Amino acid sequence: MKDHIAMEQRYGAHNYAPLPVVLTRGEGVYLWDTEGRRYLDMMSAYSAVSFGHGHPRLVAALHAQAEQLAVVSRAFYTDRLGPFLARACQMTGQERALPMNTGAEAVETAMKAARKWAYSVKGVQPNQAEIIACDGNFHGRTITIVAMSSEEQYRDGFGPFPGGLKTIPFGDSAALKAAITENTAAFLVEPIQGENGIILPPDGYLAECARICCENNVLLIADEVQTGLARTGRLLACQHDEVIPDGLILGKALGGGLLPVSLFLSRSDVMDVFTPGDHGSTFGGNPLAAAVGLEALNVLVDEGLADCSAELGAWFLAELQQIESPLIQEVRGRGLFVGMEIKPAKATARAVCKQLMARGILSKETHDTVVRFAPPLTISREQLEWALEQVRETLREMEAALAA
Ligand SMILES: *Cc1c(COP(=O)(O)O)cnc(C)c1O
Repeated sequence: MKDHIAMEQRYGAHNYAPLPVVLTRGEGVYLWDTEGRRYLDMMSAYSAVSFGHGHPRLVAALHAQAEQLAVVSRAFYTDRLGPFLARACQMTGQERALPMNTGAEAVETAMKAARKWAYSVKGVQPNQAEIIACDGNFHGRTITIVAMSSEEQYRDGFGPFPGGLKTIPFGDSAALKAAITENTAAFLVEPIQGENGIILPPDGYLAECARICCENNVLLIADEVQTGLARTGRLLACQHDEVIPDGLILGKALGGGLLPVSLFLSRSDVMDVFTPGDHGSTFGGNPLAAAVGLEALNVLVDEGLADCSAELGAWFLAELQQIESPLIQEVRGRGLFVGMEIKPAKATARAVCKQLMARGILSKETHDTVVRFAPPLTISREQLEWALEQVRETLREMEAALAA
């Protein structure tokens, strides 16, 4: 185990601070390290593994397609891409979809579409288009995307940045209204801020934003890379507010935990600003990705994962909220997307994660204070029950250590 850590440290860039565990196998909700220890995955690779590890139907789709045809580029049509895009559009209420690989690429795609739409449809003067995002956002790591970040570390040392970007407080629809100008192309927002610590906006926020955007001819673009595909108990988190956004970004779980697969979906008048040569990706929409993405959408429906997430999530959240511990500041979430905020004076979230790891639970802190619980949506009530017991025990141990 030490050798693997040392080798990554020696030859890799140090842009992550992983927990000291070396994983070698995954099946369903479980992961195993190189010493044969088993862990419950309460992290799901930031929701990329919502179907669990090695889901048999997804692995079968991957295998079959790999043997048939994997990558040909978009220089040609394939018999896989159309069915994937059609299913994604039908399920999300969108008219067109553009396939990319990572979430950040799909966000960039959305921003390019919004800008070109602003010039060619809305009539904004050349190079004046603005995109509004929220403080505390996380949309990825490209230079344009970190230019919108309010997180100092994400930007520090990476300028100069492109212009036409501004941020407003999250959860404040009046701030959106005030920030919009005649040059505003789009408002880019996460329905629940994941990386910022599972931050829920006030009820009705998204619906109010949708109304403001509609009145001002501004595109509402929902980044559901993390909240989408049943994570919050509905297919899309936007559905809690009965909002169909003008643009929608999906990723992470869309690849079934096997491949990077992302989509930017939108109304046709937005997507149709793209003409051949405007945008693209060598791997985006390849037959392997399309086959796995389509099967992921089908599994989501066939296994009723949105309902699982809603029911188990509500119960799990209520149980966590009942824990009385001086370490806990707040527990919040929706569906199986839960953040447990630790009182900074008492402990760090990382210390809690380390302690949970010793008890066979893998999670990861977000910022210094929030422990994230986002297990595969295929998890059972018994498995969650066990996780709860470990959380209670961990908090008890840490309280005892504090008292001593
Ligand atoms: C993870 C994430 C992204 C970026 O996805 P990558 O695949 O890491 O590029 C974008 N938006 C949100 C909301 C995310 O959680």
